[in-house]
Amino acid sequence: MSIPTQSRVVIIGGGIIGCSVAYHLSKLGWRDVLLLEQGRLSSGTTWHAAGLVGQLRSQSSMTRLIRYSTELYASLEKETELATGWKRCGSVSVARTPERMTQLRRTISAARAQGVEIEELSPKEAGDKWPVMRTDDLVGGVWLPGDGKANPADITQALARGARNGGAIVREGIRVTGIETEKGRVKAVVTDQGRVECEVLAICAGQWSRTVGQMCGVSVPLHSAEHMYIVTGKIEGVTPDLPVMRDPDGYTYYKEEVGGLVMGGFEPDAKPWGMDGIPYPFEFQLLPDDWDQFAILMENALQRVPALETAEIKTFLNGPESFTPDNNFLLGEAPEVAGVYVGAGFNSMGIASAGGAGRALAEWIVEGEATSDLWPVDIRRFAGFNNNPAWLKDRIKETLGLHYAMPWPNRELDTARPFRRSPLYERLAAKHAVFGSKMGWERANYFARNEDERTIRYSFGPQNWFETVAAEHRACREAAGLVDMSSFAKFLLQGPEAEAALQRLAANDVAVPVGSSVYTALLNARGTFESDLTAARIAPDSYLLLTGTAQATRDAHWIRRQLPEGVTLTDVTSAYAVLSLAGPKVAEILGRVSPISFDPADFPANAIRQITIGYATTWACRRSYLGDGFELYAPAEFALAIYDALHEAGADLGLMDAGYYAVDSLRLEKGFRAWGRELTPDVNPYEAGLGFAVKLNKGDFIGRDALVTARAAPRTKRLISLVGPRPDGQMAWGGEAILADGKPVGEITSAAFGATVDGIVALGWAESHEPIDQAWLDARSWTIDLAGTATPVTASLAAPLDRKQLTKGATA
Ligand SMILES: Cc1cc2nc3c(=O)[nH]c(=O)nc-3n(C[C@H](O)[C@H](O)[C@H](O)COP(=O)(O)OP(=O)(O)OC[C@H]3O[C@@H](n4cnc5c(N)ncnc54)[C@H](O)[C@@H]3O)c2cc1C
Repeated sequence: MSIPTQSRVVIIGGGIIGCSVAYHLSKLGWRDVLLLEQGRLSSGTTWHAAGLVGQLRSQSSMTRLIRYSTELYASLEKETELATGWKRCGSVSVARTPERMTQLRRTISAARAQGVEIEELSPKEAGDKWPVMRTDDLVGGVWLPGDGKANPADITQALARGARNGGAIVREGIRVTGIETEKGRVKAVVTDQGRVECEVLAICAGQWSRTVGQMCGVSVPLHSAEHMYIVTGKIEGVTPDLPVMRDPDGYTYYKEEVGGLVMGGFEPDAKPWGMDGIPYPFEFQLLPDDWDQFAILMENALQRVPALETAEIKTFLNGPESFTPDNNFLLGEAPEVAGVYVGAGFNSMGIASAGGAGRALAEWIVEGEATSDLWPVDIRRFAGFNNNPAWLKDRIKETLGLHYAMPWPNRELDTARPFRRSPLYERLAAKHAVFGSKMGWERANYFARNEDERTIRYSFGPQNWFETVAAEHRACREAAGLVDMSSFAKFLLQGPEAEAALQRLAANDVAVPVGSSVYTALLNARGTFESDLTAARIAPDSYLLLTGTAQATRDAHWIRRQLPEGVTLTDVTSAYAVLSLAGPKVAEILGRVSPISFDPADFPANAIRQITIGYATTWACRRSYLGDGFELYAPAEFALAIYDALHEAGADLGLMDAGYYAVDSLRLEKGFRAWGRELTPDVNPYEAGLGFAVKLNKGDFIGRDALVTARAAPRTKRLISLVGPRPDGQMAWGGEAILADGKPVGEITSAAFGATVDGIVALGWAESHEPIDQAWLDARSWTIDLAGTATPVTASLAAPLDRKQLTKGATA
């Protein structure tokens, strides 16, 4: 059968994701959609998935997405008259250790905040729900009645039928071999059976997506790993309505299938696959059994389900699946080529995610931008360097196991590091910096003061670095602290019309004199956040933009796509180091190394100047994310000299190195919001308490109309600051439920120990049907749910430390 020579949308890949995108595009009224599958539908990875659908994720936006999948799978059969095998059988997760039980109790708190039905179970209750398991070695469990299972191949067929019913064309046996672009936009796909022109291309090619992306210069950072399960013969007590069961301490999951069990899992040290490319054809194909790799799962399964000892093993299934560097999938418009969208790298969650992810990508295609917060899975959280195959291979050995690894607060990944290093890396390492990693950058989390602190001892309570970070925090408040913030993304926006272009993007007024800087939101047409950044005007036609470490790709994409001819954006992240100085002694220290005055009268807030420090010349800006201080944007080659000079000059004034854990506690005491935590595309500046940085009267800008409406609307959702007692057994880390008079009203977005307020300090959301103001907050009693313990807190709209001053430095 021939294929059309033209289609508005071409989707590459007929797995569950491609079919879901086609289905949802047709639901949104787009008829001119062509899906191309090189083999047969579901013949890639989808056909052999176990079919577990668990709803709860650590980010509420992701939970919402999967909850939609469960609703869709429940109704699809009726709509398409094709069976889907969907069964809302519920799931039991069990804990073998007290720490795991604490984690499950924290899950209960998060589920309460996210409105997901959940119940704590005793070991006996867990055994009642799942009678074939051993329970005498368990501490407890949780029950999620809304979880379920489905037949992946059947769902794929049902989605494809739904798409066809809506007008989409689905073609099997057609392989895409090339992608043509013109002036930065997709133009056509070339197949083994002809060429198809298109306006939009969706790469939903599963583990092949990295190679397909390379056909047009799009980075799709994923790598395959072997993933295995067994299927047993009938086992007594295993009935069709048996819930799904997960034993994360034993790395395993279980579901009923024809009276037997499917048992698989996520081993801590995974086995990468496909290093020399994925063979073609690879249709309904599996990999050889590997009982050695499976041994750790089998041993644990025998402990949990003794009946497996004698059960017949009917199938050993080993199939490749693609994994990403952070265990979240890749969704959205590729920043490299306009019109190319990606939905891939599903980390063994593709069946659970497909409904929601397919709808989200279809809406993104139709609207031209994401319609809700998809930052955790946004493909723009990565950059071209993440597509390095050697790096990917080493990293995904670890990411597969993260499914069931203990999700410790602040947990850092250990593999494929160090990756990106600041010019100060060796200096900081010599001072016993304990590094974390963000966007690949090695960043000091804190500076170990003794041997014990050189490795983080993870726990849900105060961790082993607490006192050291408190000391760094106090130095930044009471004397002077220095943080290497070189990982900030930095751009030069240049051109005669740079001011007008930025005015159109920014909610704040950026028409400031040369030598000034402005904190501003970048909003979408809905008036919600696409970014927040600092714009420093360094010449009449030139701004230095400073934005969050993780936002480099995303912000560049967002900004570039709206720039007029003649205005350019250049990423200068690697050209500049950033040294952030905070504390009352900072001006004096700078005065000792530089010939100018740093007195506020001579160097006022938000001013940016070129200064000299010894032989070095650098930008200095009076603003700080930590409180009061300066940021130095120094050419990378001068960073070491400046760093050494500052330490020499500041030693007797108490200057201390500080790390990112202190940055977090310092910014939370000041109420400074962080992109991706507090500020997302689901939130407008008024809800976020950043109305002061919106200038409605400066002229038109993106999002202005929506903000005019938002400003007049009752404020029923607000970001609030919380202060709690000094943490004892449990600490707040983010994700916990916030309760007003005992009822959940929202969740914590960021939390830390604030050494200045001497207690837990947090930001989080409160939502009500009534308008929320300080009087509303004062009229209620506030608690946060820390692993099942209601901990009293105070709630306020203003920052705990400085209720008047709501300015902000560049974002972390
Ligand atoms: C053993 C195992 C168990 C799993 N269990 C679960 C589970 O319980 N729950 C869960 O949610 N997930 C599970 N998964 C994960 C799930 O199977 C995947 O995440 C999901 O199937 C991915 O779907 P996809 O559409 O992205 O990829 P695929 O199903 O691989 O589809 C991509 C398609 O693109 C086609 N294609 C590639 N290149 C081209 C080209 N050039 N031209 C045309 N077509 C092309 C391929 O042929 C393929 O059919 C499991 C995975 C494995 C391996």
